[in-house]
Amino acid sequence: MAGGVAEIPPVRVEVGQAPEGMDELAEVIDGKQIAKECRRALKSRVSEFTEQVGNPPGLGVILVGEDPASAVYVRNKERACERAGMASFHHTLPADSSQQVVEKLIDRLNEDPLVHGILLQLPLPGHLDSKAMLARIRPDKDADGFHPVSAGMLAVGQPSFVPCTPRGCMRLIESTGRDISGADAVVVGRSNIVGKPMAQLLLSQNATVTICHSRTRDLDAHVGRADILVAAVGRPEFVRGDWIRDGSVVIDVGINRRHDGSLCGDVEYEKAFERAGFITPVPGGVGPMTVAMLLENTVEGAFRSISK
Ligand code: NDP
Repeated sequence: MAGGVAEIPPVRVEVGQAPEGMDELAEVIDGKQIAKECRRALKSRVSEFTEQVGNPPGLGVILVGEDPASAVYVRNKERACERAGMASFHHTLPADSSQQVVEKLIDRLNEDPLVHGILLQLPLPGHLDSKAMLARIRPDKDADGFHPVSAGMLAVGQPSFVPCTPRGCMRLIESTGRDISGADAVVVGRSNIVGKPMAQLLLSQNATVTICHSRTRDLDAHVGRADILVAAVGRPEFVRGDWIRDGSVVIDVGINRRHDGSLCGDVEYEKAFERAGFITPVPGGVGPMTVAMLLENTVEGAFRSISK
């Protein structure tokens, strides 16, 4: 990464667990454990910064409205910050806040020297223009990596802030020890926050990348060729287990709620398990990494702020 900030080495996961009744099949990539290792490694960086500067790396958090899922995500992120020794500055605004009010708060956090990263929790209430808000966050505090400048930097191979979820997915892929260079990688989904940056990251590691989306023909054939598959569709168990290439690495970004309230990913897990070499569970795969990468981004932003 830029700014002289040390990369934290990927953690190798040795053993996975098969669902009950199955023989040894895919290895489960334990995102919870890997995220824990990332956060542990980050603690010394946090102490180093705090000793050097006199205050810890700080994350400014903006939540607009009372969406319960967003409130849970925000609480998890803030707790993780505090456990790592970082500061979090929480701001909840009413759901009917105007664009101007939210932008004023962003401006304040942009100028606050104790804040090194800004998180604007999405989705925003429908009357707000989220694109304009994200663009208002100063690129050097763009901890989520959603600013057009961050996206552009990633595209030209000079990443500053890399979006947290794809960054976490890369760590999970690296943890398998599989070669990314030359691998056929398929990303299903092309959103600005997951699919596109994911494809950029895989490309930057010399994978041959195919991006699939709702207009893609013969999706099963594309998936069947993937040495590395990243599914970010947002539809429960949409990617069928029998599409998966034998021995491949399967990263499931999706978080979906079934009718019975349980969570599942975008991949038909139990069947995919019979074919994949490595697979992430839902929950406990990509989700914890997203939070850990947000902390890493904030700490890196903090170090960059003193190396200017
Ligand atoms: P979006 O809704 O923004 O994007 C979904 C993508 O899936 C789109 O590019 C869409 O294609 C594509 N898609 C939809 N239907 C099909 C189809 N039938 N065939 C092929 N592609 C299709 O979602 P996000 O990228 O924001 O999120 C994806 C999932 O990841 C969600 O479940 C979300 O909850 C989860 N997520 C999890 C995170 C974590 O930390 N674990 C963080 C962020 C997201 P098109 O562009 O053509 O419409």
